[in-house]
Amino acid sequence: MNFHEYQAKQLFADYGIAVPAGRVARSPEEAVDAAKAIPGNLWVVKAQIHAGGRGKAGGVKLAKTLDEVREYAKAMLGTRMETYQSAGVALPIDSVLISEGTDIAQELYLSVLVDRGTQSVTFIASSEGGVEIEKTAEENPDAIQTLNVNFVQGLQPYQCRDMGFALGLNSKQVNQLTRIMLGLYRLFNEKDLALVELNPLAILKDGSLAVLDGKVNSDDNASFRHPDLVAMRDIRQEDETEVKASQHDLNYVTMDGNIGCMVNGAGLAMATMDVIKLNGGEPANFLDVGGGATKERVTEAFKLILSSDRVKAIFVNIFGGIVRNDVIAEGIIAAVKDVGVKVPVVVRLEGTNVEEGKKLLKESGLAIIAADDINDGAKKAVEAVKQAA
Ligand code: GDP
Ligand code: MN
Repeated sequence: MNFHEYQAKQLFADYGIAVPAGRVARSPEEAVDAAKAIPGNLWVVKAQIHAGGRGKAGGVKLAKTLDEVREYAKAMLGTRMETYQSAGVALPIDSVLISEGTDIAQELYLSVLVDRGTQSVTFIASSEGGVEIEKTAEENPDAIQTLNVNFVQGLQPYQCRDMGFALGLNSKQVNQLTRIMLGLYRLFNEKDLALVELNPLAILKDGSLAVLDGKVNSDDNASFRHPDLVAMRDIRQEDETEVKASQHDLNYVTMDGNIGCMVNGAGLAMATMDVIKLNGGEPANFLDVGGGATKERVTEAFKLILSSDRVKAIFVNIFGGIVRNDVIAEGIIAAVKDVGVKVPVVVRLEGTNVEEGKKLLKESGLAIIAADDINDGAKKAVEAVKQAA
């Protein structure tokens, strides 16, 4: 689950990390009130969307007067914003963060994540922040510091100091960084986070460090024990199809290809996507209908795939172990009855009740392209897309 910047900063503050004074606003009037409550005469108006890259897209504006605050808030609120990090989607700006303006001397990068390679919570920092860290990693890898935290010992203050000096900070800044890192480490573990990113963590003209941007991503598998985090969820920022899928307990991820996939089992779903690619096609989604799929769930799953106009062919690839093929067939037939299907459907069924499943599909009168195995199915789906084009 992703969070807004204002929520991330609230979490930081809860863990003793100083953040610039700020308030969220949902109307231009609220924005002005928020600015009035923040000391000083420089404010930053920031679009709250679940994507970075807002600066370049016009979603971060420095305001010198209350009128400017109102103007910028008005221009942003109620619109949609696409950035180079929003995966081709224009996200709604329902709120803006009004933040205390600061004078930046230098922008640093600091993040916390789980590094699977070393099986450790890992800090990554760079003296070249503010920009795309991937670029820095490629062009100037020496500017990136990495710190793997030992799970048993936990994060030690001396490690934070080492990192700070490696970033070129002075001793006062190093103390500040240490406090930030210790707070982030505690936050990361206690809230079961997957990623925290401060970009930029800025050095201000007065020499102090300031957390100017915050990105937080939590581990959905741990959501059940963090109702406080779940309460912060903003589904308007999420992919509509994925939200619908999660309501039906379907494991669904939107992709940008054109072959819709309905598969049971995450492993088979991954393999199916691979084989589609091997055959020169592009999957439109990852979808695992799960082991104990009911007719209703299969129906919903099939409807989800059909709801995308990007889908030019569907590949149903089922290996019935626990799930029965006749149930899958019934689900497909029910979905098609409800919403109709205008694209070719390739079906490969195998396993429990396969004959019953095939018979049901045959008798349904649906134009189905039968496939013998996974490769045959993928090939036929790719061909079907080509013919449709
Ligand atoms: P992002 O583009 O979505 O990552 O949004 P950021 O919050 O990182 O803001 C983008 C850029 O705006 C930062 O890299 C800074 O250069 C600038 N910026 C953000 N907050 C402030 C601020 O308080 N003062 C000044 N002067 N610049 C800021
Ligand atoms: Mn940023």
